[in-house]
Amino acid sequence: MSKRNPCKGCVDSVIVTEEVIRELVRDTEENAMLIVSEEVYQARISACESCDSLRYGTTCAHSGCIVRYRAKFKNKSCPFSGKPKWDKVS
Ligand code: SF4
Repeated sequence: MSKRNPCKGCVDSVIVTEEVIRELVRDTEENAMLIVSEEVYQARISACESCDSLRYGTTCAHSGCIVRYRAKFKNKSCPFSGKPKWDKVS
C-alpha cells in the first residue's frame, strides 16, 4: 500500500491494519504546521467513532479516507453532506 494515498480506491483492500494506520498517523507528525492539536484531533475522532458513515471502524463512507489520518490535517473537514461533523482549522 502506498503511504501517500490512504484511501479505499488506492489500496488493495478496504480493510487496513492497525499497523498501517499507526504508520500513517505517525507520518503526519512530521508536518507539525499542517496538523491539528491533540484536543481537536480527539474531538474529530470521537465524532467519527459515533458516526453511521464510519465503515470497518476505519474509513469514512463519504470520502473513502481513513479517518484517523484525515482528521489530523487542519485543511480537511468532515465530508458529511449538508451537515459536516467537524470543520477545517485556520
Ligand atoms: S468524516 Fe464525517 S462523515 Fe466521515 S465518518 Fe467522520 S464524522 Fe462521519
